[in-house]
Amino acid sequence: SNTEVLFGVEESLKELTQLADTAGLMVVGSTYQKLVSPNSRTYIGSGKVAEIKSAINALGVETVIFDDELSAGQLRNLEKAFGGEVRVCDRTALILDIFNQRAATHEAALQVALAQMEYQLPRLTKMWTHLERQAGGKVKGMGEKQIEVDKRILRTQIGVLKKELESVRKHRKQYRNQRLSVPVPVVSLVGYTNAGKSTLLNQLTGANVLAEDRLFATLDPTTRRVQTKNGKEFLLTDTVGFIQKLPTTVVAAFRATLEEISESSLLVHVVDISHPLAEQQIDAVDKVLSELDVSSIPRLMVWNKVDKVSNPESIKLEAEKRDDVVCISALSGEGVNEFCNAVQEKLKDSMVWVEALIP
Ligand code: GDP
Repeated sequence: SNTEVLFGVEESLKELTQLADTAGLMVVGSTYQKLVSPNSRTYIGSGKVAEIKSAINALGVETVIFDDELSAGQLRNLEKAFGGEVRVCDRTALILDIFNQRAATHEAALQVALAQMEYQLPRLTKMWTHLERQAGGKVKGMGEKQIEVDKRILRTQIGVLKKELESVRKHRKQYRNQRLSVPVPVVSLVGYTNAGKSTLLNQLTGANVLAEDRLFATLDPTTRRVQTKNGKEFLLTDTVGFIQKLPTTVVAAFRATLEEISESSLLVHVVDISHPLAEQQIDAVDKVLSELDVSSIPRLMVWNKVDKVSNPESIKLEAEKRDDVVCISALSGEGVNEFCNAVQEKLKDSMVWVEALIP
């Protein structure tokens, strides 16, 4: 039962499969069920639970991942229903897992740890009610106390992490201020995960930024200096990829990274125009952007991967009709010079705008 109607259930599950693959899991199957409302105890109905359980036994499944966020109770009941050995998790936990694997800087690692703890906090009951059961009810109430102790420990850790993050950020801000004192405009790449942001950055700068066909290759903002043919310069920053159904708590953990976006002179929205859900991915990115304070920053849209579409000519015609769209192939380099020109045109606009504000 998807509350987000942007992506259909099947597309969303396909993306979940890709996420699982990115996390290093091997997906053996997927299924879904249409219910008027999710089962409060197990999210899915009892028939579906039984069906999955027999698949677990037949295929030796170790992990079952749900595409929507599960409550602590649902997690516990499902784990019990599937048999103790199976790990049950949801999309959010999976994304946090991937983030955890990919955090390359100290700041990213701190952000992910914080998001994971905040995710765990309301879900802490599991382990201890389990213990209580094992003790045969003799220590009734002990589990409850233990949960409280655990929650207190977690909250303390969260507090420590937040302080550490703050100090790391202060450093980065100083560095950024130094950078801003150099009059080179900053251009931020935003876009759905896998749209081709890192590839574009590489194509423009020869920087060896990790670009691979996996979701969330980029977690840390990477900034490179781009020199155009006519000797002009701008700084290009790659940001974390956006994805649908990213819970606000997770978005909040990355807010500081995303906030760099709000200090740029231009936003370049990179779109994988060859993707069947390009339209929906654009909407998902716009939704996250609308939560940040960036409405006044000029934008340019890039339709990437034109080498991959079946109808490149009509796509290019369509782009020409629009004012703010450039067609490129970040992989082959096609259209990249036009892209640089468009960036400069846009920056010129924004510079005029800045001058008009400062008499
Ligand atoms: P990011 O998540 O937005 O940074 O995306 P990446 O730059 O990592 O690219 C994701 C995948 O798309 C990689 O496998 C790239 O090789 C591929 N890719 C990027 N740009 C193009 C393009 O213009 N054409 C084609 N065919 N593939 C591309």
